[in-house]
Amino acid sequence: MNYISTRGTAPVLDFEATMLTGLARDGGLYLPEHIPPMTQAEMAALAGQSYEEQAWTIMRPFIGNTFGDDELRGLIARAYAGFGHPARAPLKQLDANHFLLELFHGPTLAFKDFAMQLIGQLFQAALARSGARVTIVGATSGDTGSAAIEAFRGLDNVDVFILYPHGRVSDVQRRQMTTPSEANVHALAIDGDFDTCQALVKDMFNDFKFRDGVKLAGVNSINWARVLAQVVYYFSAGVALGAPHRPVSFTVPTGNFGDIFAGYIARAMGLPIEKLVVATNHNDILHRALSSGGYVTDGVKPSISPSMDIQVSSNFERALFDAYGRDGAAVAQVMDELKATGGFHISQGALEFLRDSFASGRASEDETRATITRVADATGEVLCPHSAVGVHVAQAHLSATPMVTLATAHPAKFPDAVEAATGTRPALPARMADLFDRPERVTRLSDDLSAVQALIRERITA
Ligand SMILES: *Cc1c(COP(=O)(O)O)cnc(C)c1O
Repeated sequence: MNYISTRGTAPVLDFEATMLTGLARDGGLYLPEHIPPMTQAEMAALAGQSYEEQAWTIMRPFIGNTFGDDELRGLIARAYAGFGHPARAPLKQLDANHFLLELFHGPTLAFKDFAMQLIGQLFQAALARSGARVTIVGATSGDTGSAAIEAFRGLDNVDVFILYPHGRVSDVQRRQMTTPSEANVHALAIDGDFDTCQALVKDMFNDFKFRDGVKLAGVNSINWARVLAQVVYYFSAGVALGAPHRPVSFTVPTGNFGDIFAGYIARAMGLPIEKLVVATNHNDILHRALSSGGYVTDGVKPSISPSMDIQVSSNFERALFDAYGRDGAAVAQVMDELKATGGFHISQGALEFLRDSFASGRASEDETRATITRVADATGEVLCPHSAVGVHVAQAHLSATPMVTLATAHPAKFPDAVEAATGTRPALPARMADLFDRPERVTRLSDDLSAVQALIRERITA
């Protein structure tokens, strides 16, 4: 399987190189050259299989010969062994035709574990074979960093450095990053906000001497292997509700567009998805773009669903690539315009293409809080604020087709917002009940690129 860039000029890569590279050299994102279709019979056969068996069948065609069949089975098994629910992604019924896909039973209680746990295993296997060593550096507003640390802790051939804004992540998120004791894990608290951390990481990737010297690798949400791992639960939910014989729709709490884009891939493979509904909080650039055709940045307003507080949505570029007929030059042009002017207009043809797959809606802060309260009263299901954004938006898109809303984090990860809405502080699952007793280990640094680089160089040679 070959991978091509959305901007059309970066080298074509195989799965392994795509995974280890992350961002393409022309600034684009990698996508498979073609999407392998799944037959009705193959899809029907998924029903009744374990999550791990389904994952193998769905991902196999994308991986080419990077991993052997049995090797891939073993890596998938190890990736999901630490999940706190045997179904991995259990489906709950909220209402007559509305279901909740619980994606928060992984080790750090957010859906990002589905992808991170797997790519931890895939990186380890690929690096063990080549003998190479890499340095993973990432910026986080909370969930990505904890998921990355949990996935790479203790693995050979990898050091993981996560930059988070000092004082601006929740206590649970911080402790998930600072309590792992393995020597290859490095939590860095930076004086600044998320954009400060992100800018430092970007500068490190653009410093080619440093980048090549420490063998920098990226595992942020534009990494294709992360998108691929997320395709699986769209199928697991779809077949549980009757696919390929019955259609299904999904509503996805959306920030960087990685999760919902995985649903788009599932649809392209043949899963009968009627609509993919983009749910945003008041940072609603995607909802405005799909409604009006104008993709215009507007600053970030903090919200109670912080993992969706974004200014631009990186993975949207992948959907644009298809919408513009896979014309890399056209994508490069609108991305240049975005960079230069803070916005661009989606062409009429591209907008129609996008609207065939995607619908959208937004939830205000009040609507989000009211949804947590209402759903807890009506069903007993306690939603995190991100999932509540999804449920609120899904409500306006219910039809005869079953609707599945993705629950992207466990309520205990955002206890203040949940307690304010329900009156009860959500408890951590028993397997991590001692999180607040474990010792923390963190290095605090100012917003200083050379100091961060010096620390990384020193730690990886120690
Ligand atoms: C990352 C995250 C999202 C947004 O997912 P994208 O793939 O960036 O669209 C939503 N909810 C939670 C809890 C998250 O951690």
